[in-house]
Amino acid sequence: MIFHSTKNAALKASLEEAIFNSLPPDNGLYMPEYIPKISEDFLVDIENRSFKEIAVEVATTLFEGEITRSELENIIEHAYDFEAPIVGIAPEDYVLELFHGPSMAFKDFGARFMAAVMSHFLLKSDREIKILVATSGDTGGAVAQGFYQVPGISVTILYPSGKVSEIQEKQLTTLGHNVTAIEVNGTFDDCQKLVKEAFLDPELRQHYNLASANSINIARLIPQSFYFFSAFAQLKKLGKSIVFSVPSGNFGNLSAGVLAFRMGLPVEHFVASTNLNNAVPRYLTSGLYDPHPSIETISNAMDVGSPSNFVRLQRFFGDDWKLVTEKISGAFFTDEETQQAMREVFESTNYVMCPHTAVAYLGLQKYRKESGADFTGVFLSTAHPAKFIDLVEQTLGKSIEIPARLESLLHIEKVAVKMEPTFEDFKNLLLNELAL
Ligand SMILES: *Cc1c(COP(=O)(O)O)cnc(C)c1O
Repeated sequence: MIFHSTKNAALKASLEEAIFNSLPPDNGLYMPEYIPKISEDFLVDIENRSFKEIAVEVATTLFEGEITRSELENIIEHAYDFEAPIVGIAPEDYVLELFHGPSMAFKDFGARFMAAVMSHFLLKSDREIKILVATSGDTGGAVAQGFYQVPGISVTILYPSGKVSEIQEKQLTTLGHNVTAIEVNGTFDDCQKLVKEAFLDPELRQHYNLASANSINIARLIPQSFYFFSAFAQLKKLGKSIVFSVPSGNFGNLSAGVLAFRMGLPVEHFVASTNLNNAVPRYLTSGLYDPHPSIETISNAMDVGSPSNFVRLQRFFGDDWKLVTEKISGAFFTDEETQQAMREVFESTNYVMCPHTAVAYLGLQKYRKESGADFTGVFLSTAHPAKFIDLVEQTLGKSIEIPARLESLLHIEKVAVKMEPTFEDFKNLLLNELAL
């Protein structure tokens, strides 16, 4: 698969270059030159395939000529010791649970695959790389777990002190080995800025092969298409068309669903579900893209004012607004509506949703009402509710169980390097105290 920049189709890159560069030099986004179709024979009996078999087929179709099927089998075997089960909560409504990975959020699907693919390329070259990543919460945990003890890769994660939940902080700060956490006395934006500056610094670049693990990396986006195929496989026997509602922030998840659709997955429609950070739903109704600064909500992993994958999402439809709106509808909800949905679903079905999942649930219900269509509805659950335990317990008025995997973290002491948000301090740390 050859990639090119969204800003300049003549700027091309191989898969390996696209993964290690993360962004093209002109600051566009990497897009596949051409989207190959999944084999029709494969779709005919996809219901008999496991998650891993589906992932191998999709990845082989996409990476033909760059990574062989048997290498991909190996990569996927390493990346995925968890699945994406479908759970029914009403006769026509299903949850696609994406929180069974090590950090208990859907970002594990991208981070684990990216780590395994990078490691595949590094083993062939004996280079070493350093991943720098800024996190406002969930990305850091998934990246830390994804790259933990991967040979040839060290990871430095910057997070804003006091602005991530206790569980999220423990996920970053208790692994050790090749994972270093830096607790920045500042905001997420400060962390992001320090990482961006590091990538531009000649001295650091001379010292390290720096790489990024942010959500616009194509190696995080592509594997997220696997579970759209897997959801289809699990629901195929119902014989109805499928509508996916995707709770969205940077729109990597929805872009991956659209990639699956463009590869030939039968999808009736998508709902782009957001909180009040609603630039994309507003674009879908008006045709105007007018991003606003982000605002804080209870579904905070989706508090993105200007989604980084928006350009990609449009490009999948040839930048034709009309075509985008034929396939995607938008919906956005307030915190009150989100909490109300969490309570209603819990009271009627006993199913506990995190706030992001509740936004997706609401988007699906809204589309069902407005379209009047008959379909199998799937809303994506992007995080385990226990990751947001205080909010969930307060909303439902009862205590919920914490999975052992999260509970045990709370008893491990955190290890983090404290730092002021100045580039000089950051650079000094990387070149001296944290130098490998
Ligand atoms: C990152 C995240 C999202 C948003 O996903 P995008 O791909 O950025 O749209 C939604 N829910 C949770 C729990 C997340 O961590």
